[in-house]
Amino acid sequence: AFRELQHHHKLSSLGRLAAGVAHEINNPMAIINEKAGLILDLLARMPENPHRDKLEALTRDILKSVDRCRNITHRLLGFARRMDVQIEVLDLNDVIREVLTFLEKEALYRNIDVRLQLAENLPRIASDRGQLQQVFLNILNNAFEAVPDGGTVSITSWEVDADKVAVSIQDNGHGMDEETMKHIFEPFFTTKKGYGTGLGLPITYGIVKKLGGDIQVQSQVGEGTTFTVYLPKKAPLAE
Ligand code: ADP
Ligand code: MG
Repeated sequence: AFRELQHHHKLSSLGRLAAGVAHEINNPMAIINEKAGLILDLLARMPENPHRDKLEALTRDILKSVDRCRNITHRLLGFARRMDVQIEVLDLNDVIREVLTFLEKEALYRNIDVRLQLAENLPRIASDRGQLQQVFLNILNNAFEAVPDGGTVSITSWEVDADKVAVSIQDNGHGMDEETMKHIFEPFFTTKKGYGTGLGLPITYGIVKKLGGDIQVQSQVGEGTTFTVYLPKKAPLAE
């Protein structure tokens, strides 16, 4: 059954909208592009026309704007692809290791003790590698921001039951009070004045839910925080 999932592509509704708009704009743009090209050809064949230079300049302006539109639709399609869910069979431990390579330098520089307790025989899961990297990067970024230099971040993975695996990320940082915990998944909620975006956890939550999983948070002011991500061995195909 995993096989069937392997190359399955699924656009989120926002991604689908972006891709749809891009395609709808591309078609008429291709026609404008073609016709403007024909006008240039015609102009080239009428050297005696007194308006030729002016008409040619105007037509090139049209082509320039067409190019700009194409650039925009190209970026829209790129955005749509990033919203794409691409299911493959993967080792969650590998995903964790991949994300840690992004944080290695900071860990070294700030003397943060990253403790890996990854289950040796963790079953592979059918899920989205890119989106899971995003999830663990967001949670680990927060853990790194919460601990002092010399702090500790422990990452543990395990098989929960026949259907689920889990990863917990525990830090010994400043922790959160109950009031803060109520709001952490709301877009733009941040306690990091000046540098926080408040988008990390809402995005993380959205991805985990989309992949059929769940997130739990435990925290104690002055003690630290633990985020636990539960993931199904098989991400659902429905939206
Ligand atoms: P940002 O990191 O930009 O503030 P997030 O959505 O990633 O936005 O996090 C929202 C808030 O949740 C943070 O501002 C912080 O108050 C709290 N938070 C998240 N992770 C931790 C953590 N490991 N320790 C303490 N507080 C945390
Ligand atoms: Mg963050």
